[in-house]
Amino acid sequence: MGMIIDGKLVSASIKDEVKQRVVELEEKYGSKPKLVVFYVGEDKASAIYVNNKEKACNQLGILSEVVRLSEEISEEDLIKAVNEKVDDDSVNGILVQLPLPKKFDEKKILSLIPWYKDVDGLTEKNVARLVLNEEGIFPCTPMGVVDLMKYYNIDPCGKNVVVVGRSILVGKPLMMLLTNLNATVTLCHSRTQHLDEITRRADIIVMAIGKPRFLTQNMVNKDSVIFDVGINRLDDGKICGDCDFENLIDNVQAITKVPGGCGPMTIAELMKNTVKCFEIQHKDE
Ligand code: NAP
Repeated sequence: MGMIIDGKLVSASIKDEVKQRVVELEEKYGSKPKLVVFYVGEDKASAIYVNNKEKACNQLGILSEVVRLSEEISEEDLIKAVNEKVDDDSVNGILVQLPLPKKFDEKKILSLIPWYKDVDGLTEKNVARLVLNEEGIFPCTPMGVVDLMKYYNIDPCGKNVVVVGRSILVGKPLMMLLTNLNATVTLCHSRTQHLDEITRRADIIVMAIGKPRFLTQNMVNKDSVIFDVGINRLDDGKICGDCDFENLIDNVQAITKVPGGCGPMTIAELMKNTVKCFEIQHKDE
């Protein structure tokens, strides 16, 4: 049987480290990291994510503020509200919960956030820093995969890593992060031909496509290590990943489970990014 890579365990360990770091930073600088989350409109899934972020901040001693705004607000007023937080030195991280209601220009709103307050790592400056392999703030879900690798001593250096899914949130940044860690990365997507041949040759596979139980035994080799980022809700209400876990667990070296794998890492990485933003902003003091 393959090893189960436990995201709950690793995310708890990262949160412990963040909690400790917050205490040290408060002793050193007399203030705590603060995260501001903009929640515009009434998207139900977003409401849950925003609550979870607030809860995690509270657990770790990070200050948090949720700016709840009606969908009726004008773009001009939203820009004004975000800019107020950009100019506020007591705010270290700014997150605009996506998706924004359709009438807003997401790109324009995100571009207001300076790179050193961009806890989601989605602004153009941080994307450029990632490509240039410079210090920056990088997207939480891909960082979660990298930290799972670190914790389990799975070194991607020189390995043949296949990432399936090329979204700007997961697949593309993960491709860059792993390339910067000297992996040989193949990025696959819906137009990839002979995907099963490509995945079968991989040392490490990361699935991020949003298709339930897509990756099966005939697509892997027995030495593969598999990270399943997918979160899919089935008709019976249950959650499953992009990998057929039951089918794979006996036929691979290691694999994450859904839930309890890559999912819990995302929020831990958000907390880590918030602390990193604080540290960057206090670097010269
Ligand atoms: P997305 O924006 O919908 O992108 C899906 C990607 O998968 C696209 O690049 C698409 O290719 C590719 N794809 C779709 N069907 C495919 C197929 N049959 N074969 C190969 N590639 C295929 O999705 P996302 O935002 O990256 O999310 C992916 C999954 O991760 C979802 O289940 C989501 O819920 C989950 N997720 C989890 C977390 C977390 O753990 N916290 C965070 C974010 C996302 P094209 O580009 O050609 O269309």
